[in-house]
Amino acid sequence: MDRKRIEARLNLARHFFQHSIRRLFSHEDVNGPGFDEFLSKYREDNIFQIDARERERYRTFARCVQCNICQPYCVMFRAIGYEEFPGPMVVASTLSRALAELGTTGGVLYNCTQCRLCETTCPENAPIAEIVGFMRKYIYKYNQDLVPKPLLEMCSLVQKQGSIFDETPSEVGREKTTAEYVLFLGCHGRSGQQQRARAVISMLDRMAVDFTTIDEVCCGAPLRAAGSDVGHELARINIERIREKNTAKVITLCPHCLVEFHERSEYAGKLEAIHIAELLPELPSVRGSREIVAYHDPCMLGRVCGVFDRPRQALTLAGARLVEMDTIREMAFCCGNWGGLGLSARNTAEAIAVRRMEDAQSVGAEVLLTECPWCLEIFRSANPPGGKPRISSVVEYLIGLEE
Ligand code: SF4
Ligand code: SF4
Repeated sequence: MDRKRIEARLNLARHFFQHSIRRLFSHEDVNGPGFDEFLSKYREDNIFQIDARERERYRTFARCVQCNICQPYCVMFRAIGYEEFPGPMVVASTLSRALAELGTTGGVLYNCTQCRLCETTCPENAPIAEIVGFMRKYIYKYNQDLVPKPLLEMCSLVQKQGSIFDETPSEVGREKTTAEYVLFLGCHGRSGQQQRARAVISMLDRMAVDFTTIDEVCCGAPLRAAGSDVGHELARINIERIREKNTAKVITLCPHCLVEFHERSEYAGKLEAIHIAELLPELPSVRGSREIVAYHDPCMLGRVCGVFDRPRQALTLAGARLVEMDTIREMAFCCGNWGGLGLSARNTAEAIAVRRMEDAQSVGAEVLLTECPWCLEIFRSANPPGGKPRISSVVEYLIGLEE
C-alpha cells in the first residue's frame, strides 16, 4: 500500500473516532442546517429527533430481557387483555425499540396507568413507566391524532386556566405574606375536594404549623402523563410564587404534585417537598375509632416516595383496627385513575377501582382509607358494591373523630 493511501485511511479513522467520541459525550444538539428539512421529509415515516438527554436515557430502555415476570402483575393487562394493552414486557421490549411504528402501534400506550408496579417486579430495572411517558411525549408532538381527545382537552384547559378543572377554584386557601411552609393544594384541593383541603388546614392548625397557601397553578403532572411538554411554564410560575413566601418548604395534598416536584427538572433541587401523610401521626390526641379499616397505598406516595408507615401509624394511634389487603405497600394494586385513564377510559378505570374496593371488602374493612385525591375521586365515583366499604381520606377520617 503506498504512503498516500495509508495517510488517507489514517485520516478517515481519526475522523471516525473523533466524531463518535464527540457524539458520545456531547450533550449539545449538533444538528447542521438542513436537519429540519430532513426530518420533515421523513415525518410520515415517524422518524423524529430525540433530544440529547433522552438519548442517554434511551440506552436504559433496552434493559428488558423478556423474562415475562412483570406481565401478570400489570393491572391493565389483567383487566383488558393483550389486544387493548399488550403489557409492560411488550412496551419495554418491543414498542420502545420500534419508534418508527409508533404511528400505528402507539394508541395502546394510553391504556397504561403509569402505576409503576411492573417496575417493582423487574429484575433488570427497566424504566417501563418512563418508556411509556417518553413515547407519549413524541406521539403528542408528532402524532396528536393518536392522543385520546379527553387528554387533549384536559391539556388545553390546564394551559388556559392553570387547572384540570373547568371551574373557578374555591376560597379554601389561607394566604399570608411569608411562612415556614407553603401548602400546595393541587387542582383537586382547590376545586373538587375542598372538604379534604379544609380538613388538612384544620389539622395543620391543631399542630401549630406555620403555613400559607399561594395563588398556585397545576403542578404539571397530568400534562406530563398525557405527553404534553408545556409543564415547564407552570413550574416557573409555581416556583416564583413559592419563593415570594421566603421559603422552599412545601406540603402537598397530592402525591402526584410531590413526584412532579422531585422529578421534573424545573422543580428538582429547588424545593423541599413532603406529603401531608408524612405529618399524620403528629396530629395531637386523636382517639375514638372502633372501626375495621384498610389503607390503600397510592402508587406515587407508596411505591415511588416510600411513604407506607405514617398513615398506618396514625390510624392505629387513633384506635382503628387496621386490616391489610392482599396487595399492599410496594406491591399494591393501583386505583385505575392515573395515566389519563380516568379521562380516556372511564369505565375501565372504574372497574379497576371496584376491584380494589372488593379487595378491602374481602378482608372485612368497613372503611377504605387513602391519601391521594385521584384514588379518592375514582373510589367515590365508582360506587363500592353494596355501598361498602365507606371511602375517606385519612385526614378527614381523623379530623372527623374529633368532631
Ligand atoms: S405502569 Fe402499571 S399499567 Fe403500566 S405497564 Fe406497568 S403495571 Fe401495567
Ligand atoms: S420489563 Fe423487566 S420484568 Fe418485564 S419482561 Fe422485561 S426484563 Fe422482565
